[in-house]
Amino acid sequence: MKVQNPDGEWKNYPPSFSDEDKSMLQSFVEEHADVCCMRELTPLTPHDTICIRHDVDYSLEHAIKFARWENDRGIHSTYFVLHTAWYYRDRIKLYGQMSLLQNYGHEVGIHLDSVNESAIDNHPHYDAAAILLKAKLAELRSAGFDIVGSAAHGGIYTDLELFENRFTLDDFGLQYEAYDLQHKLNVNYISDNRGKWRAPLVKEETWIHLRWVQLQRLLTRHLRDKHI
Ligand SMILES: [Zn+2]
Repeated sequence: MKVQNPDGEWKNYPPSFSDEDKSMLQSFVEEHADVCCMRELTPLTPHDTICIRHDVDYSLEHAIKFARWENDRGIHSTYFVLHTAWYYRDRIKLYGQMSLLQNYGHEVGIHLDSVNESAIDNHPHYDAAAILLKAKLAELRSAGFDIVGSAAHGGIYTDLELFENRFTLDDFGLQYEAYDLQHKLNVNYISDNRGKWRAPLVKEETWIHLRWVQLQRLLTRHLRDKHI
């Protein structure tokens, strides 16, 4: 499906999850004792918990449809909104949509792109990126959204670079960064990418699109190896 953004540019919209994908997700979730948002995770969270992350790169409306589908089935996940996406420009609409996600029982975090946003001639300016990010977070928080988690977006640079040397999560009032957290988890953690699931904890298949059967087998093996 093609969508037109407010600049009048057409872009290819990534494929959606099929009905088969969705029913597989439902049965995968049902095999677990619990499903929880990322902010709820602690080192004591049981390993038969599943945690689902969505980076909303393109369409918040599409994300809301999926969020409603998840909520109808008792699935609560974490949606990261991208502050450089075209849907982010209309704040009134954005806040309404973010509230809807929360009303469906999901967590909303921020999908970080401030290093790319503040780069000049492809040269990163980390201090400028930090100022920009703090302003974005302050704006969301003053609108009533308690944002505690981030997930870095891709690009020439990633905002993970912000946390490598110069800044800490505390500087931004954040509790976790998803890419950092995923290495500390003992739970099944999956992340969606353009209608496919990724299982970043699975080392040998990291960031390769997985079919469901493979995903389930590999995640189970990962947890078994980790806990025995
Ligand atoms: Zn992204």
